[in-house]
Amino acid sequence: MTLRASILVVEDEPAIRRGLCDLLAFHGHAPTPAVDGAEGRRLMLDQAWDLVILDVMLPHVDGITLCRELRAARSGQAILMLTAKGAEADILAGFEAGCDDYISKPFSLPQLVARVTALLRRVSAAGQRLQIGPVEVDTAALVARGDGEVELSTRDVEVLGHLARHRERVVPRKELLSEVWGFARVDRVETRAVDMHIAKLRKKLAEVTEVDVIETVRGAGYRLSREL
Ligand code: CA
Repeated sequence: MTLRASILVVEDEPAIRRGLCDLLAFHGHAPTPAVDGAEGRRLMLDQAWDLVILDVMLPHVDGITLCRELRAARSGQAILMLTAKGAEADILAGFEAGCDDYISKPFSLPQLVARVTALLRRVSAAGQRLQIGPVEVDTAALVARGDGEVELSTRDVEVLGHLARHRERVVPRKELLSEVWGFARVDRVETRAVDMHIAKLRKKLAEVTEVDVIETVRGAGYRLSREL
């Protein structure tokens, strides 16, 4: 677990930005504020961060765009989006852009700390290799090797790890949401997020193997292919 995490906080509302930075510092982390999308973009690519927190609505460059750029530049970067309450489209756009998690404003401080802590723990739970049929997943380097190599995100590795640990059975979407995404409550948006994520992960794996690694079991969930 990262004890003192470097966290970039891109949020244009001064009270929320200050509140977040104070809270993260209080919990032993090292937050750096960015006041708008332009400053956020500069800082996020300027140095390495354990976590980047992005507000969606930002002056100059919006958070979804930043998320997409950051994910393209650093596939393993932990990214948390701050979305407006009830803004389902923003949540879906955030997941589409590659964020690891989101929290809706207004959020309670304990809720935010719990999400940040869970995300940091997942990011640091690395350092082993996972063999799935013809594919070797390097969970530290965040790559899958087979016929070539493809970069994975932290969440990709977690999804594969969870499916591999339970390879004898079908894993329901709800279970992936609670065990991998860390969501206690499951609704429609989040179930779609799992499906979108698996679809992207399959595309990545298809670059290094012809084997269909993840099998969909209609109405039940996902499992690693029984052929492996
Ligand atoms: Ca904003």
